[in-house]
This record gives sequence, structure tokens and C-alpha cells, in this order.
Amino acid sequence: MKRIAIRNLRLCTKDCLCLFSCPTGATDTENSIIDTAKCIGCGACADACPSKAISLVPVVFPKQQEKTDAVVAALREMAQRKADQEKMVSQIAESTEQDGLYRLMTAIGKSTRLLGADLMRESRFMLPQSEEAREVLQTLADNPPTSDFPLETVKELLESL
Ligand code: SF4
Ligand code: SF4
Repeated sequence: MKRIAIRNLRLCTKDCLCLFSCPTGATDTENSIIDTAKCIGCGACADACPSKAISLVPVVFPKQQEKTDAVVAALREMAQRKADQEKMVSQIAESTEQDGLYRLMTAIGKSTRLLGADLMRESRFMLPQSEEAREVLQTLADNPPTSDFPLETVKELLESL
């Protein structure tokens, strides 16, 4: 299975060991995003990285595990509840003047969002090339929700999937 390296910029501590270890120069880019055209998937950068910021991912993802429509519907319902919960706790956080309560609600909001994202991924959105992901992107491209919506990025994504 052909793999390429990706870098998690949040974990990267910029010590540049991956730049020295990469045989093709794929890690040496202006924007810190590994050049997938140059990457041969050898894994030297991931082995060298002290922050575990680099992972090797398959170029073509394996097929996602099949789920019945009933399971998918239940997952999406739970995801909707998580979105509602996140909205509620963020309203509490915005309205309180107590620092402790603000921090607690903010932490719960972030945790709720992560759970919601996991539920959405499991409900047929795990793979970027899934039909569901493509439909959502196409809907957003056809009807951008805000004036500053990154339409060009979505169009690029659609073309690359
Ligand atoms: S080796 Fe890891 S931490 Fe260092 S620059 Fe590369 S990705 Fe970032
Ligand atoms: S996997 Fe190998 S070729 Fe690809 S970026 Fe890492 S070191 Fe370079």
C-alpha cells in the first residue's frame, strides 16, 4: 500500500530533524506542508521527528466499514445532540462572569465538539472520498453559507477527491 507523510503543524516544534533526514527534500517547503509529489513514503522523517508530528498515511484509503442505515441514523442523531450541547455550554460560557464556570464550560464545549466530530466521522464521513463527504462539499459549494466562506478551497477539494 503506497503511503505518504503528513505533518501535524500543531505538534511540530520546528527543530528541523525531518529536513535533514528526508532523502527527497519533500519536508523542506515554504508553508511547512510536506510536498506529497516528492514524498516516497520511506518514513525517515517520522522516525526522526521527536514530537511525533509526522504520520504516514495511505494514498488510497481502504474502504470504510459498512454500517446499516439505522446505525448511521443513530450516530447522526447523537452528533446533532452534541452540536446542541456545544451551543448550550458556549452560551453559558459567554454569559457568565465567573472565571471557573467559564473555563469549565469552555472545556466541556471543546470535548463535546471532539465527540461530535468522531460521531460524524463514524457516520460515513470517515473517508474524504466518501460519497457523503462529497455531497456535503458540493452542497456548500453550491450554496456558500457565509460571504467569507472559502469557496475556492472547497472547489479544489472537490476536484482532488
Ligand atoms: S522533525 Fe518533527 S518537530 Fe521537527 S520540524 Fe520536523 S515535523 Fe517538526
Ligand atoms: S516519508 Fe521519506 S520522502 Fe516522504 S517526507 Fe518523509 S522522509 Fe521525505
